Amino acid sequence: MKIISNPLELKAYLNTIDASIGFVPTMGALHEGHISLIREARSKNEIVLVSIFVNPTQFLKGEDLDKYPSRDEADKKICSLSGVDILFFPNAADIYTEDEVSLQAPNVRGYVLEGTSRPGHFSGVLTVVMKLLNIVNPTRAYFGKKDAQQLNLINLMVKQLFMSVEIVPVDTVRESDGLALSSRNIYLSELERKEALKISVSLHIASIMIGKNTLNVNEIKEKMREVLEPLEVSYTEILNRDFEIIEKIEIGNSIILVEALVGNTRLLDNVWL
Ligand code: AMP
Repeated sequence: MKIISNPLELKAYLNTIDASIGFVPTMGALHEGHISLIREARSKNEIVLVSIFVNPTQFLKGEDLDKYPSRDEADKKICSLSGVDILFFPNAADIYTEDEVSLQAPNVRGYVLEGTSRPGHFSGVLTVVMKLLNIVNPTRAYFGKKDAQQLNLINLMVKQLFMSVEIVPVDTVRESDGLALSSRNIYLSELERKEALKISVSLHIASIMIGKNTLNVNEIKEKMREVLEPLEVSYTEILNRDFEIIEKIEIGNSIILVEALVGNTRLLDNVWL
């Protein structure tokens, strides 16, 4: 596995290669969720390229940028064992300068749900994803459905800016008890870990209700709120796959999303129905 930290060096190297490239952008502290993205990329592309970059512009003041988990050596090993060909490992000065051109997330879809509690977060996400896509110029780029709003906005960016990369969504990987894997789970105490389960349980109960033909969105959201008690819930929302509000579940076109604070840790989860 080749490890490169300089964007121009990576571009020059990739220019010498004529092959399909599957790209998996991450912020490191890799877990089975990331590995599943890598596996998907491995199955469809000749070259698999992973980036590890904790992007400062998507963290708001007071968020966990400085203590975001970092496991460089373990991450390198995981990539190498997972069949990654190239690991792109830049630092902030390789990606950003003082006075920057940046992308602005759309005013409506970028400032609802997670965008409400983290205003500006998605502008940082889109800016870095655009930079990374321009550096790597991949055939396909892989993103987790767990970050459903991020995935929706990246799809929107690719469409609206007429980019030619194929965005591939990948299912959420969970612990055996249902908790969605996240690099931030290591912040949870034992007690918080138990409380966090309420998030996936609320989604599970919502799915059961829908299976029994309860399709009214407000009824489902009310039940979810009950299950999530006493967590501090940022939102429970049920939308269609274009992130528009719906009143009745549309099977095959709906997403149920939850964001809750467990202790000081903000956790996201969702199901696609
Ligand atoms: P992160 O390192 O948290 O920025 O995540 C990098 C990529 O991995 C993003 O596309 C995430 O949506 C995806 N991802 C994170 N957690 C999971 C998971 N549990 N299952 C599948 N994909 C995930």
